[in-house]
Amino acid sequence: MNLARDFGPRAARAILPISKLAVMNRTDMWRRLEAHSKPWDMIVVGGGATGVGVAIDAAARGYDVLLVEQSDFGKGTSSRSTKLAHGGVRYLEQGNIGLVMEALKERGLLLQNAPHIVHDLAFVVPNYDWWEAPFYGLGLKLYQLLAGKYGFGASRILTREETLAHLPTLKTEGLRGGAVYYDGQFDDARLLIHMVATAFEQGATLLNYVEVTGLTKDAQGFVNGVSARDVETGNEFRATAKVVINATGAFSDRLRLKAEPAATPMIVPSQGIHLVFDSSFLQGESAVMVPHTSDGRVLFAIPWHGHTLVGTTDTPIAAAALEPVAMEQEIEFILATASEYLTKAPKRDDVLSVFAGIRPLVRATGVASTAQVSRDHVIHIDRSGLVTVCGGKWTTYRHMAEDCVDQAATLAQLPDRPCVTHHLHIHGFLEAPKEEAAKEFGALAVYGSDVLEIRKLIETDPNLGEPLHPALPYVKAEVIWAARHEMARTVEDTLARRTRALFLNARAALAMAPTVADLMASELGWDQIMRTKQLSAFREVASNYLLHS
Ligand SMILES: Cc1cc2nc3c(=O)[nH]c(=O)nc-3n(C[C@H](O)[C@H](O)[C@H](O)COP(=O)(O)OP(=O)(O)OC[C@H]3O[C@@H](n4cnc5c(N)ncnc54)[C@H](O)[C@@H]3O)c2cc1C
Repeated sequence: MNLARDFGPRAARAILPISKLAVMNRTDMWRRLEAHSKPWDMIVVGGGATGVGVAIDAAARGYDVLLVEQSDFGKGTSSRSTKLAHGGVRYLEQGNIGLVMEALKERGLLLQNAPHIVHDLAFVVPNYDWWEAPFYGLGLKLYQLLAGKYGFGASRILTREETLAHLPTLKTEGLRGGAVYYDGQFDDARLLIHMVATAFEQGATLLNYVEVTGLTKDAQGFVNGVSARDVETGNEFRATAKVVINATGAFSDRLRLKAEPAATPMIVPSQGIHLVFDSSFLQGESAVMVPHTSDGRVLFAIPWHGHTLVGTTDTPIAAAALEPVAMEQEIEFILATASEYLTKAPKRDDVLSVFAGIRPLVRATGVASTAQVSRDHVIHIDRSGLVTVCGGKWTTYRHMAEDCVDQAATLAQLPDRPCVTHHLHIHGFLEAPKEEAAKEFGALAVYGSDVLEIRKLIETDPNLGEPLHPALPYVKAEVIWAARHEMARTVEDTLARRTRALFLNARAALAMAPTVADLMASELGWDQIMRTKQLSAFREVASNYLLHS
């Protein structure tokens, strides 16, 4: 195929970075780190949306950046979201117009900069009471107006028949009609890995599986670097920087306490879970949005990668965990609420995967529940000079990064340089209507322009075009690509965050694991002991995504 002819000259230009991406591997990143003798301008701790966003912003301004992530990129909350690029209809109801407008603008920029991963989606609010149509119709019109030039599509009130045309599997009993509005949807972990590649292309050095174990300080008590450990080898090292940025999400207070043992905690962690079903539960191309569940939250049922994603909950928890586990009452709540709206009531046995994530909400006084805690982001500078950026949401990562880098650069006395990410394309940029890209590339469309390189792998070795499991669209070439170009280091990295197999169908992911381990072993030089270790580690993690009856 000819990219310039089929998808325009911008798409053809987008494929150029592939030659650069060829060296995005962990060994080369280590070499860059070892060769770096002077202090970094910035060290970013945490490889989720926030940290990688900061690395992109800082590197694109020309600052010298190192980012370290203790596990895999996106292992934290950033792979466990509802996958919506949205302004947050709910915050409108809370009267937080500024927050909604900011997020709607960021939603628009995200679609412009990463059209290969983000697309618009119709959301239908079903109405069962006479007052709901005018009430939600008006609110959603305001939501549409606030987006201004970044609008995604006109909201409107639907008749009963139109509502069912959008959502053929919606319960009809008592249904009066609905209201439709448009928001964005994306694959969170996939966007993140394309962001890692973008930061790398802008000059940042990024390492997964490097844990920050401590912070170093100068004679005045200011943070001037990190002590860290290579999780793969156990080797410890130090790196110095003019400023250290704490982008560890729900773990932010842990790092702050390393700088200042008396620091007042900022984070109130709150867990949210999702259940995944096959596509028969939600037929059609639209999502359902339930604006008021019995616990006062919003519930979504969304078509995602040929499956149905339903969530979420908001459960305050005592402390953050890297691999959070769904609670029984959360599972029951989602099953019960989904059954109120879908003709085919989902049961435990229908759950293909369950996953939990932790919101890094910022503490506020005087609010009764975590559902009411502000979703605004916060940039906090401790007396030690450690900069913490937290709160916010996936959709607003770019704006959070801009604010954070502005403040960090001032603190570190770096030369003033303006933010350039408003129109910076995310790696793989390919501007093609979703339907066209899907027709041309099938499930590989989420790779954007990298799809051509993956196809080349298959052309060279047709065996790599074989599917990994009949229930999922993934092929062997994706495993090779993930290990060779996307810094996948474990079977879990490939099955959970390079492909989304574990999040879509945990049993299928378990069945795929031995083949994935074989392919990764040949690519990364694992011996038999390492292969066995990898498989048992994956089986242990995957057990959290399975629901037992
Ligand atoms: C259930 C749920 C649904 C959501 N849905 C949406 C949505 O639809 N749309 C939206 O816009 N937002 C959504 N959000 C919010 C969004 O997902 C988060 O705001 C965002 O992912 C937070 O990213 P982060 O980088 O701050 O945190 P994380 O992704 O958690 O990243 C922090 C990283 O820091 C690393 N780390 C911690 N300590 C260390 C250390 N010592 N050394 C090195 N690394 C370390 C962790 O391993 C982790 O990977 C949702 C959140 C939840 C929980």
